[in-house]
Amino acid sequence: MNLLHVLSELHKSRIDGVDRLFKDLHNMRKSGFKELDRWASKINSRKLREIGYPVNQHLKLRRFYNWYMANNLEIVGLNNVGDPFSDQRGLLNAHEFERQLILKFSSLYGFDEENTWGMLCSSCTDGNNHGIYFGYKFLKNKTGKAPILYVSNEAHYSNARIGDLQNIETRIINTDLTGRMLPDDFERQLDTTRPCLLVYAVGSTFKGAIDDQHAINAILEKHPEVSVYRHLDAALFGGYLPFTKFAGIVNRKTNMFESIAVSGHKFFGMDAPVGLFITTRDIYDSQTQFNVTYLNDDMRMISCSRSTIDVLKFWWLMNNVTFKQWKEQAEKILENSEYLLEKLKEIGYPCWKNQYSNTILIKRPSDEILERFNLANGYDKELGGEISHIVVMQHVTRKRIDQFISKLKESL
Ligand SMILES: *Cc1c(COP(=O)(O)O)cnc(C)c1O
Repeated sequence: MNLLHVLSELHKSRIDGVDRLFKDLHNMRKSGFKELDRWASKINSRKLREIGYPVNQHLKLRRFYNWYMANNLEIVGLNNVGDPFSDQRGLLNAHEFERQLILKFSSLYGFDEENTWGMLCSSCTDGNNHGIYFGYKFLKNKTGKAPILYVSNEAHYSNARIGDLQNIETRIINTDLTGRMLPDDFERQLDTTRPCLLVYAVGSTFKGAIDDQHAINAILEKHPEVSVYRHLDAALFGGYLPFTKFAGIVNRKTNMFESIAVSGHKFFGMDAPVGLFITTRDIYDSQTQFNVTYLNDDMRMISCSRSTIDVLKFWWLMNNVTFKQWKEQAEKILENSEYLLEKLKEIGYPCWKNQYSNTILIKRPSDEILERFNLANGYDKELGGEISHIVVMQHVTRKRIDQFISKLKESL
């Protein structure tokens, strides 16, 4: 029950002062711009229905915003520019909370505390940009040769785009039907005279496939002369996997990797895009220095200004939700993914899902269904051509799934 509802109940019972409070709160919902208010109301009516994109719509940030406003922080210009792991004097920032946030996550991904560097960046794409940049510089500084970037054709488009942006020779590796990088094609395309900059899709965007790190590593072991840097693009799966029995997939102690990028707004329930970028201190130390006198800092990261409110909000989230609660959420979305699959099979609707994945592929439904549930489209010849997907996030409960199935059935 929200505050407005409580007040409106009190309002009905005519308690002194409540009347005014009710009106005030009601007025707060009015921006003075009709189109803005209409937009806000439309968003609220749609949010729980949308199931095609990996966005957690069960957000619990009200207490954070209340705290933020109660401390007048909305009238302070904050900026986390600079290295959160160096204690240089900078702008008004929250570096200590950023450091704590990164260390909390780094242990989740199997980094050792004394050998961790990271930051909160603007999105997972920004994290991939840093992973590829840091990887390139690390390999180049180590070997004196320009590395080649290897990434699959099912990985998120940002990786190939970043290869282009950073002017890195990029080889796109073919995938199997499930969306995993084909080890044979990797071996065929591997240039053993140059360092290897690998991006693993841990959760490919459309099919939810996880590249087989063991199979690719087995090929690299045959070529010990090749220097390798591995970056994990784990935007969505890096959120829930650490809380399941498959945690090893995104753990550096069981799977070798030098850096990882994860979105904060997919599984974790941030209300705006942010990304985690985590690597080792050794990799960070191998980077080119950029000493910027007026910032009192060595600026090795690409972006200058970074968000402070997002650091505080994420820190607040990580300290408010317990490990047990994250685990329950992670297990629930995997359970509900199986439930959706079962229900689709019951009505004989063509569907398909990868192991460890909360992304369900289905034959492309009618435009009405696509629009109503805002599903994402794809095309795969081997999976029957035109397909769409559903991503089972926290707000995609059994009740929502039943509603979807009943609408889908009606449309057949
Ligand atoms: C969503 C996604 C991205 C992009 O993440 P943003 O945080 O939206 O920039 C990158 N890689 C994968 C695998 C994704 O699913």
